[in-house]
Parts: sequence; C-alpha cells; structure tokens
Amino acid sequence: MRKPIIAGNWKMNLKIAEGVALVEALKPLVADVDNVEVVVCPMFTALDAVAKAAAGSNVQVGAQNAYVKASGAYTGEISPQFLQDAGCAWVIIGHSERRHILGETDALLNEKLRFALAAGMKVMFCIGELLEERKGGLMNDVIRRQVVEGLKGLTAADLANVVLAYEPVWAIGTGETASPEQAEEVHVFTRALVAELFGADAAAAIRIQYGGSVKADNAAELFSKENVDGFLVGGAALKADSFAAIVKAAR
Ligand code: PEP
Repeated sequence: MRKPIIAGNWKMNLKIAEGVALVEALKPLVADVDNVEVVVCPMFTALDAVAKAAAGSNVQVGAQNAYVKASGAYTGEISPQFLQDAGCAWVIIGHSERRHILGETDALLNEKLRFALAAGMKVMFCIGELLEERKGGLMNDVIRRQVVEGLKGLTAADLANVVLAYEPVWAIGTGETASPEQAEEVHVFTRALVAELFGADAAAAIRIQYGGSVKADNAAELFSKENVDGFLVGGAALKADSFAAIVKAAR
C-alpha cells in the first residue's frame, strides 16, 4: 500500500506571518488524518517560522528548490543542509516553473536530486509535458526523457525517498485539469518506466502525485485512479480550508 502524499507548493506567495497563520489554521483541520502525508512548501524566508509552527503536528515542511553544493561562494543559492537547518525534510526539484522560466536542464535537476538525497532530504521530483508536446504526440518521449535523465545514477533504494509529481504544464495554474483518465495514463506509463529502470518492487512502491489545478471538487475523482497517489497543489494550497479538503479527499 502506498501512503498518499498531498503537498502544497506555495510558490512565491505568503509572507512569514501569513504562512504561519495558514499552518496554524491547517493543523486542527488535518489533526485526525494519519493515513496521508501532508507537506507545505513555503518560500525560503518563511521556512523557519512555518517549520516551528508545524512542529509536533502532522504537517511537514518542504522547500521549493535546492542547490548542488553544501555551502560557499554561490550567491543567491541555498543548500539542502541549510534547508534542513530551517526545519525542512522535503524539497521540490524540477518544478516546471524552474525548468521553463529559470531554464533548469535535465542534467542540473539530476544533480540537484542526487545532492538533496545524499544530504538526507526527501524529494518531490516533477515531470510533465508542455501543451505543444502533447499535441505533437511527444508526451511519452518527454516523460521518458525527464524520468531517465532525472533519475540517472539513483539506486532502487534511493527511490524510497523520492516521490514523482506528474504535472502537465498546460494544467498548472490554468484552471484546466487533466481528466482522471489522462492523469492515470501518464502515471501508468511512468510507473512502467520506473519498473524498467529500477525493477518491479521499486515501481510498485514509488508514489506518483498529480499536479495541475487540483481543487477540493476534483480531487476525489482524480484520487480514485489506482496510480494517483496524491497531489502537488498550487493555488488551492494557499487557503487552509481548500487545502484541507483536498487532504481529506485522499484520506
Ligand atoms: C503547481 O504549481 O505545482 C501546481 C500544480 O499549481 P496549480 O495547482 O495552481 O495548478
């Protein structure tokens, strides 16, 4: 049985006090949910305060990015070690906004993933095709490339600390959601790829989240699919009640 995982990616939103208030409101709403992992991913500036607010609850804290060096002359970057110091157990690597706005390559993302894992972090690793790639029949090629290049050099044992997040770029922040069937199709393809690369046991165990305009009212239908093991949520994670409703849909 794969334990569902619901994570909120706050992106560049919520000041420190707003993030703390959200977590304070979220804690009682999910206090009785013990069969779902719940993670919130604030901006770097709010990590420490949010982690302190979440301490002792079943809300975990993640970051949205991490660099490939532990410390030193890397102006503007932040390492897994400093994220851990701020109370972070998780980090998102490979979000489509970092791939497509910040220009992060498969090779860099692979390096980031391996470095974060080596530092002892748990990683949500994002994959997903652009609309023109889907329309051009390239979807499976893109997913294959992102998985093969992204997970290069990992062992099956490493995958215990990796969650894959399938986020079709055309569904992120657009209000357009993949249908449960579209999501399931890619999740099945992705799991088969993991089986090919790391064996059947690793493939059966790895959790694959869906992300892309998940809301309280479409979460249950998406979650009903066998290979949808949770969600990475953007907009609907910015309010405690809508995020908690998505957590409850996966309970
Ligand atoms: C995301 O940024 O990971 C995301 C899925 O955003 P939204 O839920 O707003 O589409």
